[in-house]
Amino acid sequence: MIIRGGTVVTERGATVTDIAISDDGWILAVGTDVDAEGEEIDATGLHVFPGGIDSHVHFNEPGRTEWEDIAHGTAALAAGGYTAFIDMPLNNLPVTTTVEAFDLKLAAMQRSAKVDYGLWGGLVPGNLDEIEALVKRGVMGFKAFMCPSGIEEFPACDEATLREGMERIAELDSILLVHAEEPSLLHEPNGPTARDFADSRPAEAELAAISSAIEMAHQTGCRLHIVHVSTVRGAALIHEADRQGIDVSGETCPHYLLYAEDDLERLGGLGKCAPPFRAERMKPMPILVSDHSPSSSDLKHRDDFREIWGGISGCQSTRQLLLARTKAVDLPYVSALTATNIATRFRMANKGDIAAGFDADLWLVDLGWEGVVRREDLLYKNQFSAHEGQRIRGRTVKTLMRGLEPSRGEHIRPAW
Ligand code: ZN
Repeated sequence: MIIRGGTVVTERGATVTDIAISDDGWILAVGTDVDAEGEEIDATGLHVFPGGIDSHVHFNEPGRTEWEDIAHGTAALAAGGYTAFIDMPLNNLPVTTTVEAFDLKLAAMQRSAKVDYGLWGGLVPGNLDEIEALVKRGVMGFKAFMCPSGIEEFPACDEATLREGMERIAELDSILLVHAEEPSLLHEPNGPTARDFADSRPAEAELAAISSAIEMAHQTGCRLHIVHVSTVRGAALIHEADRQGIDVSGETCPHYLLYAEDDLERLGGLGKCAPPFRAERMKPMPILVSDHSPSSSDLKHRDDFREIWGGISGCQSTRQLLLARTKAVDLPYVSALTATNIATRFRMANKGDIAAGFDADLWLVDLGWEGVVRREDLLYKNQFSAHEGQRIRGRTVKTLMRGLEPSRGEHIRPAW
């Protein structure tokens, strides 16, 4: 197959060129003089990005499929230009903290995923002896909470577990992801309002937890990644540690870029997440992910904000939201933030770039199209999102997964 005349956008720049793809879904060559047999796709006037990689989603299968499932979640990803994802070890049941639970989720992925996938394992008190087996089984790394996770089945790590976990993960050359909020600086909300909730989780809790996680990573030599950073100061701590040679990275999400604390009252329960929106909106970081964490609608609509499920549905819109706020000259950043940097950090070989030898994971998109997020276009199991009404840009013309249209089937495979 050959894709002709599209503007190919990689982290290195945007150029009108052709892409030749092999029968088994690899990129053979990129250039203006490539020859290839077979089908031709005319991409004149379109942009071609590497397929997006969302390394932070909660598809909740098995166990909580009334909130989201793999079939709906991966269809939403493909519609938004994504061709791979890594699923969190919660809120599926059982949580992915044992080899048995890993195998159950892997079977569910093999049944239902429409794009390539990876699985995060969980680090919790009591499962240190599962770490090595989970690495051998194929987890992409581990996720731990420094504060309560919101579900009983996935308890927070005490300091000793976190330290011992980091030591073992370092020995195995894997990576630890942490939800960084220092529990001693969080408190129960003083009342039922959105403001009470936001006040109960101050920015200082995030900063303290990021600092102590970085310190522990420094001492243990563990590769560390901080999920959903909500403060500019938190991002600065990570950047500074990285500059000093500590192996740490961080990510942020569209909802922290788009919304501040004042938006929470307007959005109501749809905007509840942890950490909460801050006094000031966040700035972009090198990794941008959705933290798609859906629930059923009733759990997002309660009079008492304390009883509302914390989590935002958004994995379909990440790139379109970003593109609506991106100048032409900055398009390469979209490839970097939503694909290349993620593949590099989490060692997803052959993904995240458009070059010879890489998987032909491609998003053909019409950037002339602008609109807003509309409920009826969302493919989530529960059709709602905090982003409804937000400006988006880019109509998906075609998403190719290793050269094929995303669909459930034999060819979908683990991304490791
Ligand atoms: Zn999450």
